Amino acid sequence: DEDAALLADWIDGEDDRDARRPDPVVAVVGRPNVGKSTLVNRVIGRREAVVEDTPGVTRDRVSYKAEWNGKNFTLVDTGGWEQDARGIHKRVADQAELAVENADAVLLVLDVTVGVTATDEAVVSMLRRVKKPIIVVANKADSPQLEIEATALWSLGMGEPFPVSALHGKGSGDALDALVKALPEFSEVAEAELEGGPRRVALIGRPNVGKSSLLNKLAGSERVVVDETAGTTRDPVDEIVMLGGEPWRFIDTAGIRRRVHLQQGADFYASLRTQTALERAEVAVVLLAVDEVLSEQDVRILQMAVDSGRALVLAFNKWDTLDDERRFYLEREIERDLAHVSWAPRVNMSAKTGWHKDKLVPALHTSLDSWDRRIPTGRLNAFLGEIVAAHPHPVRGGKQPRILFGTQVASRPPKFVLFTTGFLDPGYRRFIQRRIRETFGFEGTPLEVTMRVRE
Ligand code: GDP
Ligand code: GDP
Repeated sequence: DEDAALLADWIDGEDDRDARRPDPVVAVVGRPNVGKSTLVNRVIGRREAVVEDTPGVTRDRVSYKAEWNGKNFTLVDTGGWEQDARGIHKRVADQAELAVENADAVLLVLDVTVGVTATDEAVVSMLRRVKKPIIVVANKADSPQLEIEATALWSLGMGEPFPVSALHGKGSGDALDALVKALPEFSEVAEAELEGGPRRVALIGRPNVGKSSLLNKLAGSERVVVDETAGTTRDPVDEIVMLGGEPWRFIDTAGIRRRVHLQQGADFYASLRTQTALERAEVAVVLLAVDEVLSEQDVRILQMAVDSGRALVLAFNKWDTLDDERRFYLEREIERDLAHVSWAPRVNMSAKTGWHKDKLVPALHTSLDSWDRRIPTGRLNAFLGEIVAAHPHPVRGGKQPRILFGTQVASRPPKFVLFTTGFLDPGYRRFIQRRIRETFGFEGTPLEVTMRVRE
């Protein structure tokens, strides 16, 4: 298997998407108005983390790429909550807790002009249980007098308070020095998420196919947490939903729920969101609506999913609207536009009535199992031997290319390499690929079969 190992190395080197490791994540926590956004702006050197002043408006947590002393990290600014909301202490602390869970380190921001309030206390007592580096930023230390007052924050028992004036750009350097010193090289939490954790689903489709309705139907009262995942530059908020007794992470549900498609440039943002969601997902559910003719946009989104190399499920929504005539045309549209993804499981459903919503989980499992699957080299070659004996490659100009052996060099999605004595006809290659799919049960995953010709 020396060849197989060499080949695996070679393929690995080529695929740098798999090699990319996430930057460490820093959660900026603290109660409203202490200056978190101002500090974030200072660190990223932009005026972008706009301060939300409108009462009653909450903003999503937002991630930013940041860099200090040549060290890259992701800053997560936790949301601004309405000032006088009931239960504000708890909400700020809950929000902070969620952010901290997904972070490798914490910037705790306090306001020295106000001192430690009850809300600060709630956040601090939550942080006491956290075993991650915590840097205390004593913000609004605009004057030498206030800098001295910052030392009072030693009493919190959270370590050295760094006097900072985010507004005037004073002192943040020392705090950031301490921060980057404490950071791991790569995000440990993000890598852990890639390993374990709920499986990640991108629910995609053109506007109005019913994404948001489906999400509501699936989540119902069972929605567990609204979650922010680190490492992305936009503002993806995920939701973890219990389905069939297990948790599933639906990627960027904020993007699904926010009805952006009425605004200018919406197409561009929609496709950017789709792309980003696919990048983070393991499986894509492409939602199509049967009450309208399959459109170019449907086909384009489907193609994005296929190209992303993620596992795939096709869901035909609004089945409740289907009459005999429409069904007749739909079958033809499927033959015409979806023949190239006949390997994907199909679920006919209605997000409106909830009909067949329980069919989604089995389809997700089918596709993900295929996506993960590894075929032992011995089994693969036994199969190749049989198929080549039964269906040899046609003779071309007196020559007959032979398959010497094959090996699976990757999964997620599965990739195979065949060593041959000459170029295989595209038709023969497709035949082999189809047989691999059928024989080893690769329903729901894209599959790649390449050749290496040996002279
Ligand atoms: P957040 O709610 O924690 O994100 O706080 P903001 O960044 O929105 O800041 C709240 C208010 O405090 C704004 O009016 C800021 O201009 C002000 N602020 C932030 N940092 C400082 C600082 O270092 N000194 C002073 N004097 N004001 C600040
Ligand atoms: P999104 O833009 O993909 O999130 O689509 P929405 O969930 O907002 O749905 C668009 C429209 O289709 C809404 O008026 C929904 O009520 C409707 N809709 C969604 N699912 C179904 C369904 O299964 N059957 C029917 N008849 N209508 C649906």
